This record gives sequence, structure tokens and C-alpha cells, in this order.
Amino acid sequence: QNHNLYAALRAAFPADLDTTAVEVVGGASDGLRYSWRDLDRASAMLANLIDGLGLPARSRIAVQVEKSVENLILYLAVLRSGHVYLPLNTAYQSGEIEYFVGNAEPAVVVCSPANFGWVSKIAFKAGTRHVFTLGEDRGGTLLERASHHADTHAVAHSGPDDLAVIIYTSGTTGRSKGAMLTHGNMLSNARVLQSYWGWQRGDVLIHALPIFHVHGLFVAIHGALINGSAMLWLNRFDPKAVIGLLPRATVFMGVPTLYTRMLAEPSLTRERVAGMRLFVSGSAPLLIETFNEWRERTGHTILERYGMSETIMLTSNPYAPDERHNGERERRGGTVGFPLPGVSLRVVDEAGRPVETGEIGGIQVRGPNVFAGYWRMPEKTAEEFTTDGYFKTGDVGRIDERGYVTIVGRSKDLIISGGYNVYPAEIEGALNEMPGVAESAVVGVPHPDFGEVGVAIVIPRPEGAPDPEVLIGALKARLANFKIPKRCFVVSELPRNTMGKVQKNLLREQYKGLFA
Ligand code: ATP
Ligand code: MG
Repeated sequence: QNHNLYAALRAAFPADLDTTAVEVVGGASDGLRYSWRDLDRASAMLANLIDGLGLPARSRIAVQVEKSVENLILYLAVLRSGHVYLPLNTAYQSGEIEYFVGNAEPAVVVCSPANFGWVSKIAFKAGTRHVFTLGEDRGGTLLERASHHADTHAVAHSGPDDLAVIIYTSGTTGRSKGAMLTHGNMLSNARVLQSYWGWQRGDVLIHALPIFHVHGLFVAIHGALINGSAMLWLNRFDPKAVIGLLPRATVFMGVPTLYTRMLAEPSLTRERVAGMRLFVSGSAPLLIETFNEWRERTGHTILERYGMSETIMLTSNPYAPDERHNGERERRGGTVGFPLPGVSLRVVDEAGRPVETGEIGGIQVRGPNVFAGYWRMPEKTAEEFTTDGYFKTGDVGRIDERGYVTIVGRSKDLIISGGYNVYPAEIEGALNEMPGVAESAVVGVPHPDFGEVGVAIVIPRPEGAPDPEVLIGALKARLANFKIPKRCFVVSELPRNTMGKVQKNLLREQYKGLFA
């Protein structure tokens, strides 16, 4: 049996290969349709091109290009060739590309035509043999070269433990690490989500996320393809365009900022979303305010789920009102739901002992979806696994008596003030409920007496900025003194990366001198 992920995706294509698999919305290719046959043939041509390069088995193929359907097809081609796909954030500049290319030593690099000059210089210096270009609108050398190849291709034979992708983590807490994912990791997760989220015949997904991360590349693309479902494809998220497409779709996946941006559009109405089946959120915490506001405006309850580069998806709120989900049917805002089938999840204290129900601790996981280790970091890999095979996620959370998991933050963001553990999420939650506060972030900074103290950074609501002193006063009335941030700043925005994650390391850096 072939465990190559492409073989499984291909087997799920609908019988009529001439129906639409992907329709492009917006940009220069607006209205362009790709049939299932197009996906299969074009990925065969690219796979033949790759095979013809005569690369050693499981060579890395690094790709930093603007989002396009051809980029998706290239991903499928790398899978079917049996080599290792390595997507890179389009925002990365030369210093970053130098690190990733030096670290991964890809045999092939594919970049935007506009970046060929500097990217190829870096790549050739690192020993890369082939550099191709791929433009957003089908330009570049990659497709030109592939056009001379046959459009049929026998999918490479892969075992479940064969490496398929190296995906670099977002670098939210430090330098990005290359998470090694196997064909088996990805296929098992895709199948679990297909059933857990009740994917149906006739589902249509709006794909508006970048495709260099787990969310857009795996959760969204695998989700649609393994179900033989069509995608409405936006190379760039545009709230108005997505809202316009809702009547033609059934499933939407977004990071929290996409939901808040859609909520800011008056055109988001109940009528628009009447035919939708599922809204999924993840990659960063969904504010309870956004969750509630979305429900009031649309009548739909966002399903929040939790995962990471190293594990793909780990937990999910329930989809359907049936017994499969611990007997619970409710999608609970502020929680990430239950461990997915096949995933073991536990919360442990500093000594690694499971904590009592409801207590906060480090989240550890095990399952067929958990990665094979960090690329070229054997010590780091060994450190992050327990002796009984659990992966230490670096996230802190708790499990309530009904089994719902809540993420309260990251262990690296934990503030230890005068010997007490302070969880930023608790203080942020309290701040967000106060008048005038749209959003907040609390970080720890060095302090001569307490070791560390919290600093609150607050984003005001459009109606008017709150007074920092008033906020601190209000917090004092609600929380123990050791938890109260020593300073509060009202600023216009929080530093975020492309996935909408707040970069607390940048905030810590910015405010570290306050008490020094
Ligand atoms: P790095 O590991 O390099 O610091 P990163 O952890 O942000 O970066 P990713 O693997 O892209 O890189 O993101 C996974 C993290 O995103 C999780 O560990 C978790 O902290 C966060 N996350 C994902 N989904 C959710 C969610 N629904 N709620 C809260 N946090 C989430
Ligand atoms: Mg991480």
C-alpha cells in the first residue's frame, strides 16, 4: 500500500474530473477555474520536472512565492515526487532566507521572479543546485520548464513514516524551528478532521489564508481535497470579497483577525451566511467578544480548534450534536474543545505530574499526528519529548470537568512575580471586559524587587481611549495584588505576525528597561 499523501488525496477526487476543483476570486486571474483533472495533470508535469532533476531521495524543495493555485499544484507535485516540501513565509527577507536555506540545505529553491537576484545568490552559496521562479500569475521559469513534461506521473511510493514536509514554526517565541512531518502525520489528521467536522458532499471551502503554514496548507487544503470539495480561492484575504462569496460556500476557515475584519463590514448579515455550514477559527486565541459578536450578527457559532506546526490539529470544539464528543454538543467560546480522536492530551505540573481537573499546567500530547522531530536539532527534539513519548507543546492550559481544554498562554509568556505564577491570559481577559478596551496584551519585564512584573499594553475602542490609571484601579478590585500589572500603556496596535499572533517577545524587548 502506498502511504503517499497525494495518493490518498487523488483517490478522493470526484468521479467527474472535469468539474471545478478551484476557482480563483480576485486579482489578475479572477474567474479562472481549475478542474480536478487540471490539478492532477499539472502536478504530474511538475513532478516529472522534479524527477528529471535526479535529486537524492527526500531532497528538500524550498518554496517562497506569492500565494497562487500554481503554488498549491507545486505542493502536490512535491508530495507525489516523494521529496520534501518546505514552504517559507513570503514576508521573510534576506537575513531570514539565509538562515532557512542554510539550515535546510534545499536541493531546489522556488522564488518569486522579482526576488530571483538575491534569493538565487543565497541559495547557490548554500549549495542549492536549482533555482526556479514562480510568479503570482503563472509567470516564471518553473512552469515554462514543466510545460515540456508529460502530464501523467506515477506517484512515488512512500511509507507512513517518510518525511513529506518541513514546516518552520512561526517564530513567535524565538527562532523558528523546522518541524518534520510525515505522510502518515498529515493523512491521519486530514481523515480525523474530515469526519469530526462532518465534511459532506457538496461542501465548498473559501480559502483565504496564506499557504505557508499549517492552517492554510494542511487544515484548509487537505480538508477540501480529501473530501473532493471545491475551493473558492483568494490569493489575498479581502473581507468584502469573502462576504460576497459566502452564499456560494459552506465552509470558511480563518485566524481571529479575519473574523474581526469581517465583523467591521456592514455587509455581513444573517442572509449572507444562511447557506454556510461551518466557520472555523484557530492559530491564535479567539476573543470571547469576537465569538459572541459573530453569533449575534450571523447566528453561527464559530468552531475554535487548536494545533501547531509540530502536531497539526490537536483539539476541536464539537461539530455535531451527537455522543461522539464526550456527550457535549456545545461550542464553547474561550475553549478549544476536546482532544481529537487518536490524540492523547494531558496537563502536567513542573515535575511532569498530571494536575487535578481544572488546574493549570503544561500541555503534553501524543498521537499519530505528532511530528518526527525538529530538523537538525536532535537535542532540542529530545528535550521536548517525555520518556513516555509525549510532546511538550510549550502551551499552558487546563481541562475542565466536562473535558473542554482552555489555552491560557505559552509557558514562555508566564510571568513569575515575587515567586507567584501570573498567567497573562487571565489579566488580559479582565482588561478586555473593561469599558474602552478593545484588546490587550500583558507581558513580564525584569524588576529589581519582584524579579518580574507585568506590563499591560491596551488597544482602545474606537469610541475613546481608557485611562490607564482607571484600568489598573479596576483590576485591583478584581484580582490578587501580585497579578496587577505595574504599568499600563494605551497604544494604537499590537505587533502581530502574518498569522495574527501577537509577538510578545517584541513587547518584552520594548518594555524591558522600564524598571531596570
Ligand atoms: P514558535 O514555536 O516558533 O514560537 P508558534 O508556536 O507561534 O511559533 P505555530 O506552530 O505556527 O508557531 O503556532 C502554534 C501555536 O499557536 C500554538 O502552540 C498555540 O500557542 C497557538 N495557537 C494555535 N491555535 C490556538 C488557539 N485556538 N488558541 C490559542 N492559541 C492557539
Ligand atoms: Mg510553537
